[in-house]
Amino acid sequence: MKKLRFTLPTNRRQFLKNLSLTLGTTATGLSLLSLQACNSKNNEQTKASAEQNRKSGKLGIALLGLGKYSTGQLAPALQETQNCYLAGIITGSPEKADKWKNQYDIPDKNVYSYENFDQIKDNPAIDIVYVVTPNALHREFVVRAAQAKKHVICEKPMATTVEDCQAMIEACKQNNVQLSVGYRLHFEPHNQRVMELGQKAVFGPVKSIKAADSFKISVEPDDWRLNKQLAGGGPLMDVGIYCVQGVMYTLGQEPIAITAKFGENTRPDYFKTVEQSISWQMQFKGGLIAECVSSYNDEAGMLYGEAQNGWWRLDPAYSYAGITGETSQGKMDFEEVNQQARQMDNFADCVRHNKPTPVPGQMGLRDVKILLAIYEAAQTNKKVGV
Ligand code: NAD
Repeated sequence: MKKLRFTLPTNRRQFLKNLSLTLGTTATGLSLLSLQACNSKNNEQTKASAEQNRKSGKLGIALLGLGKYSTGQLAPALQETQNCYLAGIITGSPEKADKWKNQYDIPDKNVYSYENFDQIKDNPAIDIVYVVTPNALHREFVVRAAQAKKHVICEKPMATTVEDCQAMIEACKQNNVQLSVGYRLHFEPHNQRVMELGQKAVFGPVKSIKAADSFKISVEPDDWRLNKQLAGGGPLMDVGIYCVQGVMYTLGQEPIAITAKFGENTRPDYFKTVEQSISWQMQFKGGLIAECVSSYNDEAGMLYGEAQNGWWRLDPAYSYAGITGETSQGKMDFEEVNQQARQMDNFADCVRHNKPTPVPGQMGLRDVKILLAIYEAAQTNKKVGV
């Protein structure tokens, strides 16, 4: 079987194996830890800080879609934010609403269903709606949030079509609210250092970039991630987007052309409508070709760059925690941060001071165009211009 992965030096492979810290496992492992930590927090304390938040002038965020990411990452991160706090929820499950109300001391008036969500327009306690549903549903909820005059954060990928992205951007513009995409890695120090190394040509012009983001998916066969209608595609849409982002923020440029190939589907009964794996190349002005791979049947999470006078590598590069980096000059030494807390604090600051977000809807649209060009290149086996 042809394997879609880059060869790493043996010691790196061993290291990765031992560490077992790729996106999939990190996502699950650490989210459980965060949740436990959060659960064990003294209830009285939570109530007191919720009251304090309401009085402190922090912006109120309402999470829409209380699945794994909201539960394991965003809600715990909102206990650490300085500029915003968890003020409300929008959910399709009444039993989740009860649990969240108790756990985070959310008042009844800030709890909505998908049906009565539009009434949020009359609720001054909610400034920002954070849309965390399956990808194809982002459009509906972002547009409804904008029409309710709420600022919006939308999870990645922004949508599954260019038309949806454009409609979301237009709705936010029409209603004079800000739109941001949940690109947490823009607020993570190792990835920020890569932006600097590449874009400022610290080691000279960049000559080569490689990126991989893969995990062994284990969801039920009817999960939305395996349903093209809801997900827009497989690992490329889910985690390969981080490679697309990583390559572009290394260079500070957009590609001019794409080539791509689907990997072999070894489980056609499971991967019925989305790819199991895909590899692609992003070609840039000046001739650089970045090599990328993403799979639901492997474990990887790295971003590598080589310039004229040096190199850098993040591995793992995209996980919620434990990101590690080195350059040709030695190990990177950055503190561990809560990426989601930083991301949401940054957006709240942008909203409060009417500043543009560094990760706007336009960036989400740009990326969806590239993701779709990658699929087109894989389907047609032709080079696709972007
Ligand atoms: P999940 O399956 O755990 O949760 C999805 C939520 O959407 C659930 O609460 C579910 O009830 C709700 N939902 C509403 N309508 C639905 C429908 N028709 N079908 C299925 N679910 C429906 O998914 P998740 O992992 O929380 O991902 C949600 C979004 O967040 C996705 O866009 C995903 O790409 C994104 N995400 C981002 C990151 C990140 O690191 N930025 C990490 C994980 C997920």
